[in-house]
Amino acid sequence: MEDVDLKKVVRQHLEMDEFFTGGFTVKSKTASSELQQQEDNAAAAKAAKGLEEIADEVRRCCKCGLGSVRTNAVPGEGNPNARIMFVGEGPGADEDAQGRPFVGRAGQMLDKIIKACGLKRSDVWIGNILKCRPPGNRDPRPEEIINCLPYLQRQIELINPEIIVALGAHAAKTLLNTTKPIGQLRGQFHEYYAGLGRIPVKLMATYHPA
Ligand code: URA
Repeated sequence: MEDVDLKKVVRQHLEMDEFFTGGFTVKSKTASSELQQQEDNAAAAKAAKGLEEIADEVRRCCKCGLGSVRTNAVPGEGNPNARIMFVGEGPGADEDAQGRPFVGRAGQMLDKIIKACGLKRSDVWIGNILKCRPPGNRDPRPEEIINCLPYLQRQIELINPEIIVALGAHAAKTLLNTTKPIGQLRGQFHEYYAGLGRIPVKLMATYHPA
């Protein structure tokens, strides 16, 4: 029998459930004029191009030691026009092997969460604070986060989501620039500082699906 903290699992489920009540839809389902549609399409195409450029940089990145021990970098993936971004801590063994985020056991759980929200993986964007796997899945080191975070910050700027869901303590603390424990951060909306002159993005912190 696996050692699962059932209370935590139930609480996380309730948090996500509560979070999505009110009918969270994908952008394309929002009624809009033809002109608005054209503008949205142009914005999505620009974001897609920018995201691809960042992904190329990430795949070549050697800013820290993780670059020399990875099998594949994991830049993140999903809808460039996503209203919601899920951000985890860093790739595990399965993600390192495939170069894609959340494809292992934690990914199966995340897929269920996304499905329970009435969404598909292709509706959202999924990524991590660290783009390369820390050996043995150890915690990210501060210097690794400092080197890697600008990639995610640029990804957030391009996608410009309405909501970021920070999965786990490392993602929540890093994005909120706080040392508060996840127990105090989870289950509430916070604000992600998106840069000078930009509207902050709503950020929901929750436990990591692993
Ligand atoms: N855990 C994470 O935080 N990210 C992944 O991509 C996979 C597992």
